[in-house]
Amino acid sequence: MEDITTVQTTLCPSARPESVDGVVFGVVAGTIAAPRVTYLKQPLPITDEVMAKASPVTPAEIFRTAASCAESGCQHFDGKDCHLAMRIVDKLPTVVEQLPPCSIRRDCRWWQQEGKAACMRCPQIITDHYSSSEQLRQTANPSMIFADLIMAVKTG
Ligand code: SF4
Repeated sequence: MEDITTVQTTLCPSARPESVDGVVFGVVAGTIAAPRVTYLKQPLPITDEVMAKASPVTPAEIFRTAASCAESGCQHFDGKDCHLAMRIVDKLPTVVEQLPPCSIRRDCRWWQQEGKAACMRCPQIITDHYSSSEQLRQTANPSMIFADLIMAVKTG
């Protein structure tokens, strides 16, 4: 599979984990009330093995994944701008004081469009938010998953 982060493309930073040619670039840690993404130093291609690490929650609850922006194929895109990025900047508070160390920034649609304002809000974004139980999400053990993915990046 071609690494989409090495080719010229605009990435959606809230793509579904099922996306073709997607990559994992963050793991959702924090709490249910205050989720915070921990960003991987390097994006990892989505594989069955990586997705299996999300259990017992679903990959979209614990991973942030990026894939090529679908542009006109996406309900949020008006042909010029991503309205999801605009709403995030408009409606959500900032949750960090410095730019998060994000490996997809160069190609991120939200960054290209909204700049720092999107990045300062980005760590609170979860693709799917099904598991209202703190215990269930803690069972997925984000810190262990993050450590596993760091190892996968190093050995990959
Ligand atoms: S908005 Fe910023 S922090 Fe979030 S994925 Fe894009 S570049 Fe990374």
